[in-house]
Amino acid sequence: MPDHAEIIVVGAGAAGLAAAIFVARRLPGRTILALDGAGRLGAKILVSGGGRCNIANRNAGSEDYCGSSRHIIRRVLAAFPPEQTVAFFAEIGVELREEEGGKLFPATGQARTVLDSLLAEARRCGVRLLTGHRVTGIQPSPDGLVVATGEHRFVADRVVLATGGQSLPKTGSDGFGYELARGLGHSLVPPVPALVPFVLDGNFHVPLSGIAHEVEIRVRAAGSDPARIRGAMLWTHFGVSGPAVLDASRHWHRARHEGRPIIVTANLLPGDDFAAAEARFMEFSARQPRLLLHNALATWLPARMADAVLASLDIAGRIPLGHLARDVRRRLLHALLDWPLPVRDGRGYNYAEVTAGGVPLQEIDPATMASRKCPGLYLAGEILDVDGRIGGFNFQWAWSSAWLAAKGLHSELAGS
Ligand SMILES: Cc1cc2nc3c(=O)[nH]c(=O)nc-3n(C[C@H](O)[C@H](O)[C@H](O)COP(=O)(O)OP(=O)(O)OC[C@H]3O[C@@H](n4cnc5c(N)ncnc54)[C@H](O)[C@@H]3O)c2cc1C
Repeated sequence: MPDHAEIIVVGAGAAGLAAAIFVARRLPGRTILALDGAGRLGAKILVSGGGRCNIANRNAGSEDYCGSSRHIIRRVLAAFPPEQTVAFFAEIGVELREEEGGKLFPATGQARTVLDSLLAEARRCGVRLLTGHRVTGIQPSPDGLVVATGEHRFVADRVVLATGGQSLPKTGSDGFGYELARGLGHSLVPPVPALVPFVLDGNFHVPLSGIAHEVEIRVRAAGSDPARIRGAMLWTHFGVSGPAVLDASRHWHRARHEGRPIIVTANLLPGDDFAAAEARFMEFSARQPRLLLHNALATWLPARMADAVLASLDIAGRIPLGHLARDVRRRLLHALLDWPLPVRDGRGYNYAEVTAGGVPLQEIDPATMASRKCPGLYLAGEILDVDGRIGGFNFQWAWSSAWLAAKGLHSELAGS
């Protein structure tokens, strides 16, 4: 006889743990089981935010996400906004500190605090957590949903699918959850890596490794409006990383997946267009006509970067500003405003912080996170077609969608 549980949560990462806690609090005394394939829970929480876990973002709004429906993203976030994340973590003993851009971290500076507190709360609420239970199939049956792991079979009245995406697969989120969703009648927006560095062709980037500066990345892909992302970019031995690049990567991957030609460039003078940059340059040159070009450029860019730009354009850096020919100045400015980033590839799922794509939001009821395809099934977290930019937005999605799933379960099961 298979074990019976009223609710089985498949995947005990951020969304799964939160869903199990929220539902256990609303429906005390029910049998709630959380199954996870990993030997140890919460590997992704522990590595997140550089080991500090950027748990949420105070300013999270639907514009911080991409996905199959902005309207549904807005509804889900509105149901459990960042203030409620702060309140929930305070309840379970995790005080949060805010950093620049609204990023929220545990005051201890340790992701471990977040994981331990979630696990303790899940246990306190009576959730049974089973590790080493990779779910290999979920089948509707007259008795409920049959959830199969290697050796066990469970029957559940309701299942919450919270298996995440496929970024950092060694943590246990290897994309198999998408197959489980498909097996239950869902379609998929094809998954692609997101929040991932770019590998560049050529070797322009190699000597610049370690330099970071502000840019505006532009991803121009045939068939869609250009994506423009402003923020820090870090040059590395393999290419480029840093927040602006990570945020740009989902656009590049999506376009490449769809076979659309893509051009990626960086405006090295973010905020300036050609007219503004030229006016600034002319004013500078009028004030200091004897200043050498490479010294002038080094006031706008890190000095090593300025030299590399000039060398790559074959422009002599030791020429005084007052002697710079108009066509050279214009060539330089055009290049600075649209510096090519010859992207060969992203670094892949082992380096991606999140997966773009997944179960389309139109296939869930946004009031309850219930599947519109399979009765008794609920979905939460990254398995859905939602990806946030860097800065705590992806965890916020996990908490919000988990909370709504618990609310949905409660309204369905409370009377039963
Ligand atoms: C390096 C890194 C750093 C990050 N830093 C941040 C950050 O600071 N802030 C932020 O907001 N986001 C961050 N993210 C993203 C964030 O971690 C995810 O968006 C979030 O964890 C998604 O939660 P989830 O519960 O949906 O999926 P996951 O956290 O991936 O959890 C899914 C769980 O399901 C289990 N599972 C998968 N398949 C099965 C199966 N078949 N059977 C049983 N169990 C299964 C997995 O073992 C896993 O425990 C980071 C991600 C990475 C990789």
